[in-house]
Amino acid sequence: MDDKRLLVVSNRLPIVVSEQEGNWQITPGSGGLVTALEPVIRGQGGTWVGWPGCDSSVPLDELLDHFRQEQGYQLGAVPLGDDEVERYYRGFSNETLWPLFHDLLGHCHFSGTNWTTYQEVNRKFAAATADLADEDHIVWIHDYQLALVGHHLREMGVEQTLGYFLHIPFPSLDLFRRLPWKEELMRGLLDYDLLGFQTLRDRRNFVQCATALIPGVETVRRHRHFSVLRHGERLVRVGHFPISIDFNEFDQGARSHEVDEAAWYLHENLQGRQLVLGIDRLDYTKGLPERLYAFERALEMAPELHGNITLLQVVVPSRTLVPDYQNLKELLDREVGRINARFSQSGWVPIHYIYRSLDRTQLLAHYRTSEVAFITPLRDGMNLVAKEYCACSIDNNGVLLLSEFAGAADQLGQHALLVNPYDLDRTAGAIIEAFKMPTDERRFRMSRLRNEVKRNDVHRWVGRFLNVLQMPLPQG
Ligand code: UDP
Repeated sequence: MDDKRLLVVSNRLPIVVSEQEGNWQITPGSGGLVTALEPVIRGQGGTWVGWPGCDSSVPLDELLDHFRQEQGYQLGAVPLGDDEVERYYRGFSNETLWPLFHDLLGHCHFSGTNWTTYQEVNRKFAAATADLADEDHIVWIHDYQLALVGHHLREMGVEQTLGYFLHIPFPSLDLFRRLPWKEELMRGLLDYDLLGFQTLRDRRNFVQCATALIPGVETVRRHRHFSVLRHGERLVRVGHFPISIDFNEFDQGARSHEVDEAAWYLHENLQGRQLVLGIDRLDYTKGLPERLYAFERALEMAPELHGNITLLQVVVPSRTLVPDYQNLKELLDREVGRINARFSQSGWVPIHYIYRSLDRTQLLAHYRTSEVAFITPLRDGMNLVAKEYCACSIDNNGVLLLSEFAGAADQLGQHALLVNPYDLDRTAGAIIEAFKMPTDERRFRMSRLRNEVKRNDVHRWVGRFLNVLQMPLPQG
């Protein structure tokens, strides 16, 4: 980063605001992005701008000041009203961009009011960023909620280097064209200096949309990890940078005494059965009903599975106010009940279903001890659960059964069992294959998967993105 300092902008600030005996406090949050970026920001006294997620009764200014003194970096809060959260976040971000970018047009709602609020809120984030950005900052904006922040910063005369990373997929031209505001969104995106995507496919989709929709945009150079587009006078880099996890943190965590004990108890309760693990947020992109149906099909196809395998599906509640998510929850409750009623025997229930989040010890213990991770999203930007599972499989005995439509399939596909989650018969076949896989083959595959995640961890991801962002562009 040389003499430059990093200013990160994301929808939520990386903090937890809490109250203890009448005293408010903020502490750093957890999660992959925070783990990766916090050391870089803290090391250079950088800045993070985002929505604090709390209401106006919290004495935020005081708390942010205190945080800066304690943690060594600055937070910029963008307060949002209830209507703004409704239209910008729940509405345009999560009911338009989210389903459209995950190829699920049937879940999309297109509302002009939501689009207007999305632009206004993006302008608000840009204003807060412009207030805090110095000349020696480089600015890194994250994800689909904030696609237009760069555009508004340019309108405000900000000339610093601007990078943007999209954590979710970028759709094909055929899908992107359905968005009533496609040109505005695309022109806004072209105001960044570097656009980063999760996979080569996302990068190609973006380039195809940009060149097809905006007259005069053309690809002028192609490198392995990024291409250069010309847009009028400007050159825009478009790259793919698959995000990852802090491998060492998960690997070490999985070796800890508490996790070891929790893993032992988990398996003790299973009485020698193989554990097939699914862990997902409640979301229609995660392929949850299809997963239950594929497991049901496997039980139909292979009677030797009965009594010898358990699917443990953890579903973390999410977006519980959105009707599509409520309907999905009801469907899952119903289908788990139906399948269990169909196959259960005395002493064996085929599906264990947990509708809550796990604490960290339990999460790592589940990863460490499950014989199979069953991760079959219909579409996913990356899927960090897949990488976390590999990092925690310290005994090299886990099989990764992964959807070909998860971004992670690009890095892990060679040694995972890859499936099309819409193909129930083949997915069921892969469950049976994983169940029967000999120990040697499990070890071989998992050690390769672990090496891949270890080599390409989240710290490397940050380094690669920032390198390309700051690389001088060759002329001509
Ligand atoms: N996770 C968690 N608690 C749980 C289950 C999952 O904190 O009980 C975390 C998990 O460790 C992972 C994240 O939630 O880091 C899920 O990320 P992923 O990319 O798989 O999917 P997303 O939810 O972002 O679509």
